[in-house]
Amino acid sequence: MCTTCCELHLAWLPEVESFLVYYAHDKLDDFIATINIRLQPLFMQIRKGMSEGDGRAHYALVNLAETEITKMASDYAENELELFRKTMDLIILSENGFACSTDILNLADQLKTKKMKKKEAEQVLKIFVEDKWLSERNGEYTLHTRCIMEMEQYILSIYQDTARKCNICHSLAIQSQVCETCGIAMHLPCVAKYFKAQAEPRCPHCNDFWPHEIPDMSRIESQSSSKRDSRKGLHS
Ligand SMILES: [Zn+2]
Ligand SMILES: [Zn+2]
Ligand SMILES: [Zn+2]
Repeated sequence: MCTTCCELHLAWLPEVESFLVYYAHDKLDDFIATINIRLQPLFMQIRKGMSEGDGRAHYALVNLAETEITKMASDYAENELELFRKTMDLIILSENGFACSTDILNLADQLKTKKMKKKEAEQVLKIFVEDKWLSERNGEYTLHTRCIMEMEQYILSIYQDTARKCNICHSLAIQSQVCETCGIAMHLPCVAKYFKAQAEPRCPHCNDFWPHEIPDMSRIESQSSSKRDSRKGLHS
């Protein structure tokens, strides 16, 4: 914490000061709730989300005065936005929450606003990944954690009949496993946590056998941290 401005803030935010005294790692949610009360007049909010890949918690500062779609509209050309929406269709309508680059690039010359060459579309996809709207792994694209956190309400309203909610944490589930009997969905980290102590995995809703491979989150976590290290190496 910086002493110059934070002490000044605390001088007129006595509640925050008393909260900071009690700040503890397991009280992070309460701490953020307190900050959010202070952010309300600024139409901002800190939102908590989970990475669908490894289950790690993420926090995003969200601007409530501007919808994500209007924010995107000012950053991208019309046909780039169309490509994004169509990519989002592919991802959300897919079984596992991924769309492969071939399928996305095939959309490029079907765009109604303005067709794109495949090379151009490749470049645009790269920018969507850089801007954290999409994330990519081995040529497969899914929505970035940041995108899901900011667009959850929008996606749930646009894809009312197709977007799935996780049966465990009740938030939007893009990358998920789906029960083949009753159709409920669970995030991969939520699957891992839920079935951890069970010898035979059964659907929490219909009790049928859970036919999918139970993801090993400890393995995914070490993979993503080594990926981060190699990226760090590239930039330095
Ligand atoms: Zn400060
Ligand atoms: Zn979940
Ligand atoms: Zn079921």
